[in-house]
This record gives sequence, structure tokens and C-alpha cells, in this order.
Amino acid sequence: MEFSSKLLERAVNEMAQLPGIGKRTALRLVLHLLKQPTEQTQFLTQALTAMREEIKLCKSCHNISDLEVCEICSNPSRNHKIICVVEDVRDVMAIENTNQFKGIYHVLGGKISPIDGIGPSQLTISSLVEKVRSGQVEELIFALSSTMEGDTTNFYIFKQVKDFEVRISAIARGIAVGDELEYADEVTLGRSILHRIPFENSLKNI
Ligand SMILES: [Zn+2]
Repeated sequence: MEFSSKLLERAVNEMAQLPGIGKRTALRLVLHLLKQPTEQTQFLTQALTAMREEIKLCKSCHNISDLEVCEICSNPSRNHKIICVVEDVRDVMAIENTNQFKGIYHVLGGKISPIDGIGPSQLTISSLVEKVRSGQVEELIFALSSTMEGDTTNFYIFKQVKDFEVRISAIARGIAVGDELEYADEVTLGRSILHRIPFENSLKNI
């Protein structure tokens, strides 16, 4: 791609670093910004910079948050004894959209995936096990995607906590096998949480 301007080229190259954005799309987006008032680009760059510099991870559930402890964890009307275990912030958003869950979350930050070089120590599993060990948890609900990595992760956590006094359940398989949680519709996902099953029963289906 031949550019008439080094400034244009640099902006396009940076934009094209984003996933799913090729050079052509990057050029279209950059030319769009050029047609807008200057403020529009400032709002965008300020929003991105502020997000990058100020965003935190909740020190309790590891969800993305503006505060040290996120709004869900600091909400006294939520049931802090029921913890829904999810992969990342998108799953928290999907489950919150169902309005069916009044417990709190634990965000693992991914799934165990040896192929991608992700082992248990790169996830927040030890802090979850610590919560269970301290006796503050009545129920863990596994709400990971129904994939091999999701099942491996569930089973790994299950082995770590099964000897403690905690009920362990998994969301019902209204979620199709192989589906990512965030793509499930709200009604299906809401029902999957309400009709969750004991995790050991879910193992028999594997
Ligand atoms: Zn939190």
C-alpha cells in the first residue's frame, strides 16, 4: 500500500495492529476520522488512554473494574456465598444481562490450554481455592464454555476443592457444546444458571 503521507501511513499501521482489522479496514477507519471534527479523535484517544492507564482488576473477583473492589463484590444485596466461576469479563456481562444471578463472580482470566501454553498458575485459580478453603463459600457454579479447555479447567478446580464443604454445580447444558458463553442468548443462559446441575452429574455426560 503506497501512502501519500507518512502520518497517514503511521496511523493506518497502528490501527491495523488490532485483531480483525486489515490494512484496508484500517485505512477506511482512519479516513473516516479525518472527515470528522478534530474533537472526535480526541475523545477516542482520551477514552483509550484513560482506560489503559486507570482500569483495575477487582482484588476480590479479578473482574475489570474502575475501583479496587468492583461494584458487584461491594454490593451488600448480592449473595457472597455463591460464586459463579467464569473465564473473563465478557461472561460476567452476559450473565448479568440475564438478571437471573444474584451471587458474585470469580474471573479466571482464561482457561487451561496446554496448546496455548496456559497452565493453572497463569489463571486466578489459587485465589479461588483460597476463598473456598476459608469457608466463606457455599456454592461454586462452573460457567465456563463447554469446550475441552473449559472441561479441563472445571475438573482441575473440582479436584482442588472437592474435599472442602462446598456445593459444586455446573450450568445446565442448554449451552451447546463448543459454544462460547458470550454468544448464548440471554434466555438460554439465564435458564442454564437457574437449572444448574451438580458438577459430578455433569461429568457422567463427558
Ligand atoms: Zn469484584
